[in-house]
Amino acid sequence: MRFEPVSLPATAGALRAEVRAFLAGHHWTPTVRARSWMGFDREFSREVGQRGWIGMVWPREYGGHARSGLERTVVLEEMLAAGAPVGAHWIGDRQSGPLILRLASEEQKRRILPGIARGELAFCIGLSEPEAGSDLAALRTRAERTPGGWKLNGRKIWTTFAHLSDYMIALVRTSAAPEGGSRHAGLSQFLVDLRLSGISIRPIHDMLGEASFNEVTFDDVLLPEDALLGAEGAGWAQATAELAYERSGPDRYLSSFPALAAAVDPLRTVPGAEAPLGRMVARLATLRQMSLSIGGMLERGEQPAQEAALSKDVGNDFEQALPEAIRALMEPDDMPHDLRALLDDLAQLAPTFSLRGGTREILRSIIARELGLR
Ligand SMILES: Cc1cc2nc3c(=O)[nH]c(=O)nc-3n(C[C@H](O)[C@H](O)[C@H](O)COP(=O)(O)OP(=O)(O)OC[C@H]3O[C@@H](n4cnc5c(N)ncnc54)[C@H](O)[C@@H]3O)c2cc1C
Repeated sequence: MRFEPVSLPATAGALRAEVRAFLAGHHWTPTVRARSWMGFDREFSREVGQRGWIGMVWPREYGGHARSGLERTVVLEEMLAAGAPVGAHWIGDRQSGPLILRLASEEQKRRILPGIARGELAFCIGLSEPEAGSDLAALRTRAERTPGGWKLNGRKIWTTFAHLSDYMIALVRTSAAPEGGSRHAGLSQFLVDLRLSGISIRPIHDMLGEASFNEVTFDDVLLPEDALLGAEGAGWAQATAELAYERSGPDRYLSSFPALAAAVDPLRTVPGAEAPLGRMVARLATLRQMSLSIGGMLERGEQPAQEAALSKDVGNDFEQALPEAIRALMEPDDMPHDLRALLDDLAQLAPTFSLRGGTREILRSIIARELGLR
């Protein structure tokens, strides 16, 4: 695995200042900032879309802004650092939009991508199922050909924001895996309009008592012919390529950053805090370089699946450890309210960081395979 250094483009400084000025006009509670890309606010997403900061790298003909991936990274970094509630456009911008751009029909691209770029269309990811999480190829939701298209039956689980989204991109089985052959064969991806009849969405409550994810049931849902994304049977390779976008971005190490930003000032007067704080910032700088490097690979059209797995694994370690590392330096009663509230929420959210988007064990098995260890 190689992580070539990447420098941000000359335009990055001015863009960063522009995003910061925009964000300075918004004020979010610690509860919102602790959730960041798990916060869903359509009005805010529309504002971001109006600024041209969604679909930044897509061609103009599809509502994009033809900017570089590294400029996009600057916007993402600032949004996450501020803890902005970007969830209504995050999945569409990060992975569903790029997938549609690569694989959908011309008509679909023109119909859907501009809506994502305006911050008006929200997407969810339909991968996991009750018996298929880490072992994703065990999924059983299936689509069968019908005269006018496809008939979808089955169940997805843990689908973040399904109840608030317009579309899901679902990975489903379209033909049986060959006897004794790879279970990765016979899977396909579909663009599912969540308003179709036969779809029911049931909230699942997490340990905070919130319901950001859902169980989604498909009962004889009729999909049009062109709901198939890409090639029939090529779903596994397509979904795996999509995961490099999902696993390498700043959202995989910055989830706890608002707490670090809020801790710097109060820690100035705490004896002995400099060295631990310096270590946190040094780790952050390293993770950022790794993530930027993968951004560069994606921009060159490479498929850095292993590098993305490594980057997510060490990034999750950092964002999980950060709240406790800050707490160890200061008594709760000495903390400003804002910092304490952030840390309280992050303590409960942090366990999910190494589950969502692929668990720690699964990422490590991908890394071990790349290193020839298994
Ligand atoms: C906050 C959150 C949001 C999510 N959002 C979505 C979403 O929008 N869409 C979606 O499709 N999914 C979503 N997920 C689901 C997530 O992708 C799965 O939870 C994850 O892939 C693990 O699957 P599982 O829950 O079935 O656990 P399991 O696969 O049953 O794993 C249980 C434990 O066993 C370990 N394990 C499993 N297999 C192995 C192995 N071969 N070797 C070693 N250890 C192993 C795992 O690492 C884990 O610790 C979300 C999850 C969370 C927590």
